[in-house]
Formats: sequence, structure tokens, C-alpha cells
Amino acid sequence: MTDYSILSLAKNALNGQVGWAPAWRKPDPKPAYDVVIVGGGGHGLATAHYLAKHHGITNVAVLEKNLIGSGNVGRNTTLVRSNYMLDRTLPFYEHSLKLWEGLSHDLNYNVMFSSRGIINLAHSPGQLDVFRRRANSMLLNGVKAEILGTDQIAEKVPALDVSNAARFPILGGLYQARGGTARHDAVAWGFARSADRRGVDIIEQCEVTGFLKKDGRVVGVSTSRGEIRAKKTAIVVAGSSSHVLQQAGLNNLPIESHVLQAFVSEGLKPVLDVAITFGAGHLYVSQSDKGGLVFGGDLDGYNSYAQRGNLPIAEDVATMLLAMFPAFAKVRMLRSWGGVMDMSMDGQPIIDTGPVPGLYINCGWCYEGFKATPASGYTFAWTIANDAPHELNAPFTLSRFQTGYVLDEKGRGPFPGHH
Ligand SMILES: Cc1cc2nc3c(=O)[nH]c(=O)nc-3n(C[C@H](O)[C@H](O)[C@H](O)COP(=O)(O)OP(=O)(O)OC[C@H]3O[C@@H](n4cnc5c(N)ncnc54)[C@H](O)[C@@H]3O)c2cc1C
Repeated sequence: MTDYSILSLAKNALNGQVGWAPAWRKPDPKPAYDVVIVGGGGHGLATAHYLAKHHGITNVAVLEKNLIGSGNVGRNTTLVRSNYMLDRTLPFYEHSLKLWEGLSHDLNYNVMFSSRGIINLAHSPGQLDVFRRRANSMLLNGVKAEILGTDQIAEKVPALDVSNAARFPILGGLYQARGGTARHDAVAWGFARSADRRGVDIIEQCEVTGFLKKDGRVVGVSTSRGEIRAKKTAIVVAGSSSHVLQQAGLNNLPIESHVLQAFVSEGLKPVLDVAITFGAGHLYVSQSDKGGLVFGGDLDGYNSYAQRGNLPIAEDVATMLLAMFPAFAKVRMLRSWGGVMDMSMDGQPIIDTGPVPGLYINCGWCYEGFKATPASGYTFAWTIANDAPHELNAPFTLSRFQTGYVLDEKGRGPFPGHH
């Protein structure tokens, strides 16, 4: 397959663009693989890439019931950051951010990672204290963080209402200059292409409908395209986790499926070159390279598998956006969509072996999953290859919900709507 480079670009420009091979093959499933990965989202494809690249395991299939990129990996609002607080979470997200920084080169695919910076706004002295604590925790872990005053924020984001007349006046903010955005569907395509080049079969429109078991061990899957045997079966299906794992006999996964919506405005001239989160409610916004304001907020608030959302959240996020940026009042909304989120009860993921022999699980990403994509794939591949967690995902066990050793990163308690 052709490398993407200035030379191949020039060559194809001269020969009528007929030299490009498809970015990945469309193979039929084989009867058996060493590893079957269920779910062709960002995390499943990243796992395949790192399994092949770091562990030399290439007899792998990724089974995706729709088309790759049609799940949350292509539906999120693309924010990437590592401004976490706990010693058990921060190193994982920081590792992810470091992988993001080299990802386009690693994949030979432009994922358009843009470290434009992210500011979390504080609207009360208490909130600013919480951000100071988070910044100190980051600094102690060797991750740069800055607390900005209102004047510095005004300078960076002239469109923001930093006056005392604002509905929720801004007192300061936590700034991570290395945070930013990436083009979400390019991430799926880049990982898919790289895994495919290393021999992984990416099999689209192949729905897993059951699990094959022998002597209590999972030995493969039943699919809409026949049975496929596997030495190891990895489940990475985000919002479908409870549903799919029920088929393996797991009925009490600590995951709820909720809809989260994203909104995009009409294209504007450059007006916002950092990502912003609103501290007086739940809103995050950035401007895409095409010019649209990309924003989102809270979950819809009740369980659903529908990939579309409801009006109250649209009103809610628009109200918060205007509380920060009154000048956006005339901007027209262009599109919105929903994704089905895998909300764990402490807001952090599960990347673990088992709980049935032969099975490996990766789920519970809540709002954190896009930024985590590279590290999730990296550590899940390690876990599958070594039958043990990598030190970065060692805290993300399923058993923590039994032992009570949960990861309450935000200190908001064990409810999906609270993180
Ligand atoms: C609107 C929205 C905004 C978000 N914003 C951000 C953000 O700004 N930053 C951030 O870090 N995270 C964000 N997230 C979260 C992030 O997108 C997800 O946590 C992450 O994408 C989930 O992992 P994934 O990419 O593997 O999921 P998905 O892309 O959903 O992949 C799972 C795949 O499994 C497939 N599947 C399901 N059942 C089966 C089956 N039976 N057989 C075969 N395949 C199956 C699905 O079709 C799907 O393609 C957001 C999510 C949404 C919905």
C-alpha cells in the first residue's frame, strides 16, 4: 500500500489520482483468529494497531456491526486533554496525550491533532480552588498546568464575556496549553489503515450476536456472517457494552447507556482558537477547522440506545453558550446528532481481563473516551497480549466496583449523570 507522503501526493497529482489503493481491504471473515476484537470504534481499531505494531499479533479480526467510524468515535466533540487529578488516572491520560502528539506520524495518516489549548473556566472562588488543586496535582506529576486570571483569559479569548455583568462572571481558569482537538473520523480511518497494513482483517457489517463457549471459556463469537473462533475475544463496543456482554452471561455490568448530543453551528471566520469549558454548568466548545462551533453538554438524562437526542439539551447548551459568548446569539445551528455513551458508575473506564476466561473487556468511557483512544488501545493491546494489565490501566479493573476502590476523579459520587 502506498505511503502518504509529498512524493506520492505529487506522483498521483500528475497521473490523474489513479494510483491510490483503498485505505483498508474488505476481507471476508476467516473461520478462526488469534484475537477477535468486537467493535470497530476508535478503541477497537487502536487496539488492533498496537497489537500488531507492539506485540507482533497480526492474526486479528475487528468485527464491526455497521461501518467503522459510525459509532461514538465519529460522533464526539473531539476534545483531547490530560488535566486529571488522581495519581491513578492522570498518568494514563497523559500517556494518551503524548501518543496523540506523535499519532499522525505513527499512523502515516493526518489525524489533524491541534494542540490549541483548553481552558476550564471558574465562576466561584471555590471552583477556582478546585482547579488550583488539580493544577498542583498535574505539576506534581510532571504535567504542565497554568491558572489564568481574568485578564489573561480575555486576551486569549476576546469573544468571551469576562465582564462582571456576565450571567456567571469568570474568576479565572485552568489552562492546559497542550490540550486541543483532533479530527475524529480521521482517527478511526488512520488506525484502521495502519492495522490493515499490518495484516489485521477489518470486517464491517458483521454483528456479533452470541458467544461460543467450551468448558466455561469463551472460544469465539456467533455473528451475522457466521461463527468465528478465537483464542482471545476482546469486547470494545462502548454504549452497547451491557447489551453485548449479556450475551456472554454477564448481567450486572456497572455501565448505563445514555445519549450524549453534539452540536455544530454554521461556519464562521476564526473566532475561537482555544477550547473552552464553562464551569457554571456543563458545556464545552471549540471551533473546527471548517469554522463551525462544535459544542456539547450534559447527557440527555435517561437510558437509550437511540443515536439521536432531544430538544431540552439543545436549549440547555445553547443557553450556556450564550451566557459565555453573547455575540454568538445570531449564529445559526447547522447540525446535531447523538451517540450512545457507556457511562460507568465512577466516571472512569474498565480495561481488564475476564471476567470469563477467554474474554477481555474495555468499556465505561463516559465523557473521556475520545481523548483516551490511543492509550486505551495501547494498554488494552498489552493486556490482551500479556494476560495482565499494563501499569497504566491497572487501576481500571472491573472488580473495583465490588471492592469499593472506585476512582472518583471529580469527587461527585457514583451516578452516571454526575460526571
Ligand atoms: C456527542 C459526544 C461527544 C463526545 N465528546 C467527547 C470529547 O470531546 N472528548 C472525549 O474524550 N470523549 C468524548 N466523547 C466520548 C467518546 O466519543 C467515546 O467515549 C469513545 O468514542 C468510545 O469509544 P469507541 O470510539 O471505541 O466507541 P464507538 O465508536 O461507539 O465504537 C463501538 C463500536 O462497537 C460497535 N458494536 C456495537 N455492538 C456491536 C456488535 N454486537 N457487534 C459488532 N460491533 C458492535 C458499534 O457499532 C461501534 O462502532 C463524546 C461522545 C459523544 C457521543
